[in-house]
Order: sequence, then C-alpha cells, then structure tokens
Amino acid sequence: MLQITNLHAEVDGKPILKGLTLTVNAGEVHAIMGPNGAGKSTLGYVLGGRPGYEVTGGTVTFAGQDLLDLPPHERAAAGLFLGFQYPVEIPGVSNVQFLRESLNSQRRARDEAPLSGAEFLKLARAQAGALEMDAEMLKRPVNVGFSGGEKKRNEMVQMGILNPKFAVLDETDSGLDIDALRIVGDGINRIMRAPDKAVLLITHYQRLLDYVKPDFVHVLADGRITRTGGPELAHELEAQGYAQVAA
Ligand code: ADP
Ligand code: MG
Ligand code: MG
Repeated sequence: MLQITNLHAEVDGKPILKGLTLTVNAGEVHAIMGPNGAGKSTLGYVLGGRPGYEVTGGTVTFAGQDLLDLPPHERAAAGLFLGFQYPVEIPGVSNVQFLRESLNSQRRARDEAPLSGAEFLKLARAQAGALEMDAEMLKRPVNVGFSGGEKKRNEMVQMGILNPKFAVLDETDSGLDIDALRIVGDGINRIMRAPDKAVLLITHYQRLLDYVKPDFVHVLADGRITRTGGPELAHELEAQGYAQVAA
C-alpha cells in the first residue's frame, strides 16, 4: 500500500530525513517511535505534501501511484489522512462546514456523488457519537477553544467521516486522559482495522499500543529507521530508552 524508498527531505535547507525506507502493506498497523527531533512529524508532513518540506531524494508509492507527484488534495482524495501532532484551529469555519466540504471534495474527485446536508449530518452525528464527542461540538469553529484532548478526539471524528485508506497519526495519544485514550484507541481500530486499510502510528508511549496492537514497531532516529521489531520492541524502548536500544 505504501512504499517509501531511501527518502531524503529537508526544511529550510536543513536535511531532516536521511534515507528513510519503509513498506506498509494493506491490513497492517505500524508504530513509529523515536526521540524528539528525529523527523517523525516531518515524515508525516512530507507524506501529506506540506509546503516547505522539500523532498531531495527517494520515492514514495501509494496504492501504485507516485505519491510525491500528487498535490495535497489529490493525496487526500486517494485516501491519505494525516492526524496532526498540533491540530490547527480554523476560526470562522464550523466543524460541519469544514468536514462536509472536505468529504464532498474528495467524493467529487473520486466521481462519487456528494452527500446532501441531511446525509452528511447523519454521518457526522454517528461518528461524533462513536467517539463520545458531544454533537454540539460539530457546530463550533474547527478546534477553536478545544482542549488538547478534544482536538485529538475531533481528529478521530474527522477520520471516521473521511474514512481514509491510509492514516498517519502523529502523537494522537498526547494530551489524552486514560478514558479518552481508550476511546480514541477503539476509534482507530473501528475505523482503520480492515484488510484494505493501513495505519502509521507515531507515538512516544507504549500505552496507546495496548489498545491499537501494532504489527511492526520501528525506531526513527536521525532521519532514518534504525530498528524494526514487533510489539515487544515498544516495551523494550519504554524500559530502556532510545539510547540503549537503537542508537
Ligand atoms: P519529531 O516529530 O521526531 O520530534 P520533527 O520532524 O518535528 O521531529 O523535527 C525534526 C527536526 O527538524 C527538528 O530538529 C526540528 O527542529 C527541525 N524542523 C522541523 N520543522 C522545521 C522548520 N519549519 N524549520 C526549521 N527546522 C525544522
Ligand atoms: Mg516531537
Ligand atoms: Mg513530532
């Protein structure tokens, strides 16, 4: 589903990704862990096509297409979803407006009929309910005044509505209390655990992986994958730290 080969990328002329290679097959969940500043968020931004993140080498293939050749909105229409470490606030645009326009522009790009207002609201309420988010929050401006945990939960509601093929979730667990962590973990499993979908889960903590069981755990350090293992690698990292396990 996703094949990253020898990816190099820089920000402001500074090399951040330095030869990153990773293959994710349909049906798999991969966790990426790694020290601060390793390039984890940069990887997410490069996959999403964020301006300012310049690819200087390597290839990324997504569902048989050259991902790096597509503008960001076409990547989204092709089924790529990015959950941000720091979700953006959009004053003046309600969650409902934003999500309906996002979904319908993706549907139009795939030659699918857009959802009517009523159809969309039904879907949005169901997804909010599944994430135990008050449906009133759908009317508020996107993320404005939301707590850290509410923003993360709201991102999972977005993911449920957009129903992507591939999700990159950047520290979706940070700022969540214990109950919210379980709800978000259940949401990731419900929305993304399917034979034709896959997830890249960027996290600092093993506890999210108790809910969303990864097939593979990778260490990203200094811009490349330095070690790959199974779920036990996350426990090893938590016990011993990155310096010991994957310097
Ligand atoms: P991680 O998510 O693994 O903590 P990041 O991908 O956010 O790391 O950052 C990797 C490195 O790139 C860091 O040293 C960070 O300071 C640098 N970096 C990221 N974005 C920018 C930017 N816009 N300008 C300058 N440096 C940046
Ligand atoms: Mg970080
Ligand atoms: Mg980061």
